[in-house]
Amino acid sequence: MEHDLIIRSGVVVTAAWNGPADIGIRDGVIAQVGGTMRGRRELDAAGRYVLPGGVDIHVHLSQAARPEPGRELWVDDFWTGSRAAIAGGVTTIGNMTFQWAGERVRDALDRDLAAARRAAAVDFVLHPVLTEPTAAAIEEVRTLAARGHGSLKIFMSRDNFETEIDGYLRAMRAAAETGLITLVHCEDGALQRFLKGRLAEEGRAGLRHYPESRPDYTEAVATERAIGFARATGAAVYVVHLSSSAALARCRAARAEGLPVYVETRPLYLYLTRERLEEPDGAKYTGAPPLREQADVDAIWAGVACGDIQAVCTDHAPWTLRQKTDPSLTVATVRNGVADLETLMPMLFSEGVRTGRISLARFVELTSTNVAKIFGLYPRKGTIAVGSDADLVVWDPDLSRTIDGASMQSRAGYSVYDGREVRGWPVFTISRGDVVLDRTQITAERGRGRWLEVRAAGRAEPRL
Ligand SMILES: [Zn+2]
Repeated sequence: MEHDLIIRSGVVVTAAWNGPADIGIRDGVIAQVGGTMRGRRELDAAGRYVLPGGVDIHVHLSQAARPEPGRELWVDDFWTGSRAAIAGGVTTIGNMTFQWAGERVRDALDRDLAAARRAAAVDFVLHPVLTEPTAAAIEEVRTLAARGHGSLKIFMSRDNFETEIDGYLRAMRAAAETGLITLVHCEDGALQRFLKGRLAEEGRAGLRHYPESRPDYTEAVATERAIGFARATGAAVYVVHLSSSAALARCRAARAEGLPVYVETRPLYLYLTRERLEEPDGAKYTGAPPLREQADVDAIWAGVACGDIQAVCTDHAPWTLRQKTDPSLTVATVRNGVADLETLMPMLFSEGVRTGRISLARFVELTSTNVAKIFGLYPRKGTIAVGSDADLVVWDPDLSRTIDGASMQSRAGYSVYDGREVRGWPVFTISRGDVVLDRTQITAERGRGRWLEVRAAGRAEPRL
C-alpha cells in the first residue's frame, strides 16, 4: 500500500525507544514504523532525529479580560501563536480560556473555540479559567467533561481567591468527580498584595524590585496549600510554571505519597536568574513567579533531569518590548509573561540535551509524552506509533542559529534569549501528516488546527 508521506532514514526517538526507522503516514496518521515502504512524497531525515511533535499545554493566545480602550493586550492570537509553535516544533497547544467578567464558562469556551477554529494551525485544547466561582459556574464545571474538555484552571494569586475560596474548592471537587485535572497557579495572593504595598510605602515599587514582591515562600506556601486542596477535593492537580526549589520540595513530598500532583516548569526558570531585572531594560524578563536565584535554577534542572518535574511548557504570554518596558509600570501593574513558543524545544535541546544535563528520551517526555499523558491526549499525541496522529518533527541536532526575536513568528518582536547561540532546530514540522514547516518556510494554512476532544470521564492517573 502506498503512503501519503514517508520520513526516510531518520533516527526515531520516543520516550521508550530510539533507533533508525522510516515512518509511513496515511490519512494524517502514522501507518507504518520501520520496514520497506513506498509513498507519494518523501522527506529526507538522514542525520536527523524524528521526534514526536511538542505538546505545549500552557499558552495564552486569547485575552484574559474583555478588550476595552486603554487596556493593553497580549499580542499573539491563534494564528501567530500557531506559527511560532510550528517554527519551534510544537504541534499541540493548550490555551488558557478566561471567563471574562460576568461571562459564563461555556460562553468563554465557545468564544475561544470559534477563534481557534478560524485561526489555529496546530491542534489545540482549551483550559477554562474559572474567575468567578459562583454556584452557576460550579454547575457548569460539572458539564465540561461531557462537552469534551479535560481540565479546569484556577489562580490562587487572583484578588478574589481568598474571598471566594469556598467556591473554588467546590469547583475543584466538581472537577475531581467528573475526571477533570485542575491546573493551579500557585502564588499566595494575600502575601503578594501585602508585599507590593510594603514596597510602595518604601519607595521601591519599580520593576527592578519585582522579585521582592513575590519571593519563593509566597510560591511555596501556595503550593503546599494546593496539595491540601488535592487531598481534600480528590482533584488531580497540575502545578503550572513552578519556579523555586522550595515549591519543588513540597511537590516532591506529595508525589512520594502517591498524590496526583504534576509539576510543570517553564523555560524562564531554566535559563535566567533574578539579576536580569537589574539590566536597563530588565522589565522585559518579568513573569509570575519572578526569576529566582541560581540555586533555584539548579534545583529546577535537577528536577527535570530526575523526573520530579514532568513537563516543560512555555506559558507563552507575549508582549512587545514597548509594553514590557513601559516606564510607568510598577510591581503592582507589571505586565507578566514572555513569548517562548518558538524557543521552547530548541533551547531545551541546546541547553539540556547537548550539554548532557538531560537525555534525549527525557527531552521527549518533558516536551511531549508526559504532557499528552497527563492531559488525556496519549497515545493520539505524544509518541510515534502506528495509529498515533502523524505529529512529528524532523530535528537537526547540529543546526545552529542565533536567537533574534525580531525575526521570529511571535508579534512580541523580541526574545528574552536574544543573542544566544542555540544548536538543534526543526527542519520539518508535520502536523497530522501535513508538512507545516519546510525548512524555514511555514506552509500551514490558517484554521487547519483541530480542537482535541478529551474523554475525561473515568480519568486514570498516568504513572510518570
Ligand atoms: Zn499562564
